[in-house]
Formats: sequence, C-alpha cells, structure tokens
Amino acid sequence: MPGFQQTLAKSASLSGTSLHTGEQVTLRLQPAPADHGIKFKRKDLQEEPIIDAKIENLKTVERATTIGEGSMRVHTVEHVLAALAAMGVDNAIVEMDSNEPPIGDGSAHPYVEVIKKAGVAAQEKPRQTFSVREPIHVETKGGSLLVVLPDDKYRISCTQVGPEGRFSQFFSTEITPAIFEREIAPARTFVFYEDVYPLMEKNLIKGGSLENAIVVRGEAVLSKEPLRFPDEFVRHKILDIIGDLALFGHRIRGHVVAVKPGHGSNAELARAMAKEYAKTLPSIQPRAFPPGEGGLDIRQVMEILPHRYPFLMVDRIIGFEGEIKVTGVKSVTINEPYFAGHFPGHPVMPGVLQVEAMAQVASILMMKITKSASRIGYFISADDVKFRKPVFPGDTLFIHAELTKARSNRLAKAKCQCMVNEAVVSEGELMFTFL
Ligand SMILES: [Zn+2]
Repeated sequence: MPGFQQTLAKSASLSGTSLHTGEQVTLRLQPAPADHGIKFKRKDLQEEPIIDAKIENLKTVERATTIGEGSMRVHTVEHVLAALAAMGVDNAIVEMDSNEPPIGDGSAHPYVEVIKKAGVAAQEKPRQTFSVREPIHVETKGGSLLVVLPDDKYRISCTQVGPEGRFSQFFSTEITPAIFEREIAPARTFVFYEDVYPLMEKNLIKGGSLENAIVVRGEAVLSKEPLRFPDEFVRHKILDIIGDLALFGHRIRGHVVAVKPGHGSNAELARAMAKEYAKTLPSIQPRAFPPGEGGLDIRQVMEILPHRYPFLMVDRIIGFEGEIKVTGVKSVTINEPYFAGHFPGHPVMPGVLQVEAMAQVASILMMKITKSASRIGYFISADDVKFRKPVFPGDTLFIHAELTKARSNRLAKAKCQCMVNEAVVSEGELMFTFL
C-alpha cells in the first residue's frame, strides 16, 4: 500500500437491521483528519460518545468483536473495520444510532459499497506501516493458530475447519482493495446450526435470519441465495481476520497464516503485533547521549581508530566500566553503502560487519588501557559467533565488549554482543593482535 494516509472524500450512509437486537440502524461514514484513525460514534446516546477502534478497547470476542469504554459498547465491528482497512481508509468516523452496525447480508459488501459511494481521498501525512520482521505467533486452547511472517505485501492464508472436520477449506491471497472487493468482501457470515440453536432459543439473535447468514446443518447448507464461492466460509474467515487485525491500528506488511481462527485468536494476534510495533518505535527516534563521564564522541573515536567511512562501525562510545567493559553505539541508516546490494529491496546489515563493529569497540577498550592510539588490530580468531536476529536500517546497534584476556599489550580476547531494542542480535568471542 503506497505512501499517504487516506480518508473518505465525503460522508455516506447505509441503513439496515442490527443482528443482536433486530432494530433498525443507520451507519454514516464521515471523513476524519490525518492521524485520527478509525473511531465509532454512538449518535443514539447522550453526549454522543466516541471510541477508538483500537485493541486496547476490546471487550468481548464471543461470536463477534465488541469494543467498549465504561458502560458504552459497540458490537460486531469487524466487518465494517475490514472494509475500511482493506479499501485503504486510515481515518474515518463511523457514526451509528445504535450499538451495532447494520448486518446487511452478513458480508462486507454493503460497507465496500458505502465506502465507494463516499470515495477515498489521500491526505498530507505519510502512513505508518508495520513491517513484520520476525514471526509473531499466537495459539489458543480452542485450537486456533496464527502466525504472521515477514513479507513484502499484506497477505493472508487461512484454513477453516468446521465441527468434525466438516467444510474444511483453504484460501490464500494478497489483500488489496481490488482483491478484497472481488474475492473477500462478498463472503457471508456462516454459522453451524448446533452453535446458533441455543441462541435462537434464548432470543439473542433477533435480527438473525437466512438473509444475513448461511446456516450449516449437518451436510446441508441453508441460505437465501446459493453460495457465492465454493469456499465462501474460509473467505469469510479471512474477512474477519482483516477486521479484527484492523484493531491493531496500522497498515500491515506481512503474511498472516491462520489455522481455524476465531475472533479471540485474531484479537490476540492484534495485541501481539501492537506490542512488537511499540518495540520498534524507540529505535526510530534519535537518542541523545550525554557526552560526560567516560564516553567518547565521534571525533575522539576517530583519534583512536584508524578506520574511516564506510568502514567505521562505531559512532560513539557511551561508557566504559572499569578497564574491562565498554559500550559503543552505531546508528544503522539506510544510507550505509552496503544496503544497496545487501539486498536490493530487502536491506539487512551483514552479520560480518556486526563482528567488525564488535572488534572496533573492543579495540578502543584495548587501546585505552594501553594508552596507545591509531594502531591497527588484526583478527586472529572469531569463536562462537552467532547471528540471532536481522538488523535493519533505522536500528540503533549497541555494541558491548568485555575483555576476557589481554597479554603483553599485543594480544586481546573479548566477549562481545550487539543489541537492538534490548535483544541480542549477534555475539561472539574475538581475539586480535595489534601492530
Ligand atoms: Zn464475520
């Protein structure tokens, strides 16, 4: 999905029946400014409260996704959220005069229509995208399994499994507005008779009918119109995943692989992604290190090390601990020359350059101790080197070195680690000699 945030060009509305109460409801989509996100507004309540469609406001995931704040609730938000997210709308107000959107035909098609009626307009601010860096995984007691993997696009691959393995289906697709509108939005809600019968008895789904859901009884598929796709059920599962993950609040670049998903597991994945996303934020903001006590700025580092651009792998030393420990910092930017070829379209810092960074930081410590500068250190060995996580442009590398052996000012051994966001990305034990 390209660069800029989007909202609706104008407002547009849709009326219908709500699923749980069976009442008439009107939903109106309104444009909203950049960085606003998606919010719901209850026009039927006094003071017309507004609530963020965010995972922090999730209340229940029984059969549908409900958000709330205080005593206010908005039920069954997933289909309208799916349509907004997949059609590329980042900012909007969803106004309703009830506690639930109109159920329509049980699909997201009516919402796509209302979004198209309003039109989608670009805004002046860039979009925040969460690029999945490493697998995030959730698993529930009910047997749902969701993993999101790094990918250039937003993709979902899903396996749906019904009771006793009935109606097992698989579907895999990239999510773009065009694909969503054609392949996913028309897929309707489906229920298994044994699951809804008790609710019908209790009168909990007053608005429910074959107009807005497919009912599966045994091997029989009951619906007002024939199936829209032979694998309509799994497509609806993907629709629900998109809607529930929209509560994460940012664009996703990653591949979601889901087995037997439900609103509960989808919401858990949204929560896990929000946690991972939060971790990536501090590394984007430049950190200020006080010069004082024991640190070395770039000028001082360059007085000690003979290395120069593009092979100087430390920006500054933030501190020494006695005579044996040192911590250096390197801001890894997209302008590093090696990113052009390592790799085109998928920049990753080469592991060997992290080992080089460890060696440079360890040398600084060694030269400080021996009070000799601008000597050249040569590697003798690098043992137990492990690369644990990829390092990307925008990361701040914290390079720790601890001297484990120093002999006659000529030979030194150091245990080293590179860290990003408090996680070890690489480590090794280095030995070098000085000339
Ligand atoms: Zn649904």
